[in-house]
Amino acid sequence: MSGLQQHYQTVLSSLARATEEAGRLKDSVKLVAVSKTFPSEDIREVYAAGQRDFGENYIQEWYDKTQTLADLPDIVWHIIGDVQSNKTKYVAERAHWLHTVGRLKTVQRISNQRPSEMPPLQVCIEVNISGEAAKHGVKPEEAAGLAVEVAKLPNIQVRGLMCVAKADSSDDELRRQFSIMQELLAEMNMAGVKADVLSMGMSGDMRIAVKCGATHVRIGSAIFGRRDYSK
Ligand SMILES: *Cc1c(COP(=O)(O)O)cnc(C)c1O
Repeated sequence: MSGLQQHYQTVLSSLARATEEAGRLKDSVKLVAVSKTFPSEDIREVYAAGQRDFGENYIQEWYDKTQTLADLPDIVWHIIGDVQSNKTKYVAERAHWLHTVGRLKTVQRISNQRPSEMPPLQVCIEVNISGEAAKHGVKPEEAAGLAVEVAKLPNIQVRGLMCVAKADSSDDELRRQFSIMQELLAEMNMAGVKADVLSMGMSGDMRIAVKCGATHVRIGSAIFGRRDYSK
């Protein structure tokens, strides 16, 4: 087993432990392996160890990887970064999930560009849970309203909500942010959008996110290592 595959197994074990400690069903939390900035060969290695769901942030980088990895037909691509309007076509044609819906207009374009033979794109509304100006996503009080509008689009299926907690939050602050997400998901369901996904939790805050009901955790550095953005 390679070092990368060992890190992957360690993350799987921590996730299983966190799930059990939270009193939740085995395998009820999906691991999305966040491979941004890492080469396709690394994705191949983790794929060979059994992982199928991968998360990417930068559309051009990701698109190139979809070409290199075209021989892995059952790979599931999760877009977890911002999508500029000149890149929507790539997402429409190659992605399975989009976790970062923050504007109706962008997702409308994607719906229009989605090839009719493809299944609906699975999406989450991104919530700016920390209220930081630099963060993407809608205000918490806008999430349910946007979900109702997005749910009307033909080639899109709204699955739930996504957030990135404030960096360096204490455990209490993490619990507070993730609990609000749980409440917002309930609010969405009451507004008539049947949704079951909470995409939250990263390498540093996975355990608490799982405790607070995360269904998808997005783990990068704990699997692939430290990211080098200079390349
Ligand atoms: C990079 C990234 C992750 C993974 O973060 P790690 O701390 O490396 O686990 C998760 N979610 C989003 C939105 C990211 O941009």
